[in-house]
Amino acid sequence: MAAKKTRKFKTEVQQLLHLIIHSLYSNKEIFVRELISNASDAIDKAKFKEQTHPDLFADDNDYHVRIALDPEEKTFQISDNGIGMTFDEVNDNIGTIAKSGTAAFMKAMENSKKENTLSTELIGQFGVGFYSSFIVADKVRIDTKAAGEEGGVRWESDGEGSYTVQEIEKEDRGTAITLYLKDPEEGDQDFTQEYVIQNIVKKHSDFVTYPVIMEVEKNEPIPENEIIKDSDGKAIGDTFRKVRKDDTLNSMKAIWSKAKGDVTDVEHEEFYKHISHNWDKPIEVIHKRFEGVTEYDVLMYLPEKAPMDLFRPERKHGMQLYCKRVFIMDDCKELLPDYLGFVQGVVDAPDLNLNVSREILQEDRLVRNIRKNLVKQIFSVLEGMEKEKYEAFFVEFGQSLKAGIPTDYENKERLASLLRYKTTKSGDKVVTLDEYIENMQEDQKEIYYLTGESLSSLMNSPLLESLKAKDYEVLLMVDPIDEWVTQSLPEYKEKKLKSAEKGDLDLEKVDDDTKNEYSALLSFLKGKLENKVKDVVVSNRLKDSVSCLSGDDYGMSAYMEKIMKASGQSTPEQKRVMEVNVAHPVVGKMKEIFESDTTNPVLKDYSDLLFDIAVVSEGGKLENPARFSKQLGDLMAKAI
Ligand code: ADP
Repeated sequence: MAAKKTRKFKTEVQQLLHLIIHSLYSNKEIFVRELISNASDAIDKAKFKEQTHPDLFADDNDYHVRIALDPEEKTFQISDNGIGMTFDEVNDNIGTIAKSGTAAFMKAMENSKKENTLSTELIGQFGVGFYSSFIVADKVRIDTKAAGEEGGVRWESDGEGSYTVQEIEKEDRGTAITLYLKDPEEGDQDFTQEYVIQNIVKKHSDFVTYPVIMEVEKNEPIPENEIIKDSDGKAIGDTFRKVRKDDTLNSMKAIWSKAKGDVTDVEHEEFYKHISHNWDKPIEVIHKRFEGVTEYDVLMYLPEKAPMDLFRPERKHGMQLYCKRVFIMDDCKELLPDYLGFVQGVVDAPDLNLNVSREILQEDRLVRNIRKNLVKQIFSVLEGMEKEKYEAFFVEFGQSLKAGIPTDYENKERLASLLRYKTTKSGDKVVTLDEYIENMQEDQKEIYYLTGESLSSLMNSPLLESLKAKDYEVLLMVDPIDEWVTQSLPEYKEKKLKSAEKGDLDLEKVDDDTKNEYSALLSFLKGKLENKVKDVVVSNRLKDSVSCLSGDDYGMSAYMEKIMKASGQSTPEQKRVMEVNVAHPVVGKMKEIFESDTTNPVLKDYSDLLFDIAVVSEGGKLENPARFSKQLGDLMAKAI
């Protein structure tokens, strides 16, 4: 046996353990479900690998999960003949938080501390299944051997900050987890009692597709010839005797193949938790048998809460593929487009080739057809949802749906009708694009929007002054992804989407006389700001403010530029147009000074200030904030 190594848990695991133990004490039994789910996943993985590496599994492919209880030793053991873990995998998977980013977790922890809600919901958003063992155990041992490995690995911990790992000899492939149970507290169930575990498995894991076996005490009829009888042939001894026998605790009935009406809400909830590893509840259930040229069963759930890692590229899709109730694969990206990857569920398609690989799946006509139908189903459920329920869903998953607009050409319009935005007129509410169109002013032709970082800065942006004066509503877009939405959605229901900061707004035109009157001053300003702006023009956007920056129709918005810069991408230096409000007294004064003495140094200072004010008012960053504050300070001193 190789030397034992002691390692410390990552900090976040320690905190997580603490959190789990203290927030789930009233729901201790769920550790059984979590460990069965992990075992069932491990068998799924084994079966998947077996398709391409049958030799590795030939010795033992009668897949099952086994539970063994020992009331004397106070242990609960669960073992599986699934994929097992290598030494590295044990280190990577157990002892760190596998599923989601550390940063996201720490943030959520912090928030939950602030709100004083150490909720089970929070825990459910991370891959913490295994750690639930420590709710009931003060020591846990994992013995595991991965398919194809010579030896095994033992992991042990008391959940108090460190764990040990060592190589061991292990006969069979798979994982055995032993929980050394704490003394039960008052009101606790005894997890070494057979009937307790039988009930828990029935309640939480009945549909698991592999047998969960446990040796239990049973009453068995005594064979006729062994029964003690009197001279009349009547039994005088026992006709039953107690024996210990393996029993399968779960019915393994695939709930998707049951009739719709036969599945209860509780069963759906449990199944959702099993496949999603989340602890929230599904808010919509789509349970349907598709019939026609080919038949298949579909069971899909829309989750209530977005997981923390929703946008991490390595995040798995929620759909699993089965064929005649045999698991083929999870993370089945072929069944739904990426932007619907959050939907959790199962497709059972009896006509699929059992040996499909992911590559073949993409080409498979049946799969493409299924995918189309699933997407349609999801859309019609989303469209049919009650208003408030949908809006709550959109808060969680709106960003995902938005990601579909640039990528799913076929459903673009349908997706667009599912969008919700705050507007300059909506107050606390959100509007649909259809509602926006309905509320448009009579002379208004286009749908106006503005993108930016925060609602309050957009709401008060000088770019909206003229639009507000005309009582036109403007959509306020604060998701970075809205930039991509608007780029791929040039129009909706024949109305153009128009950025309030780009191009000509189709409001009143500036007349030629005004243009001529100011042209000398403006070209002077342009000369002074040559390095910063493309042009200086008379604004038809501004009513109260003195200056603002706008782009041309096809240029990048200020927010987009900011996003690109923040993500470290190099963007071509974009010069924008500075617009000047000629009705503003400052501009009139500047014109007077300019006409009497073009060399007056005030003009240079004021041109800098006009530009800086425009940048500040859109929430931008000044190149030289120190100069700005000095100039402003000087001005204030003069004016007082
Ligand atoms: P989750 O199951 O949500 O990913 P867990 O903390 O329960 O989170 O498990 C972490 C990882 O440990 C799993 O993703 C899996 O890779 C591995 N694991 C857990 N249990 C087993 C098992 N019985 N057999 C093989 N691997 C397992």
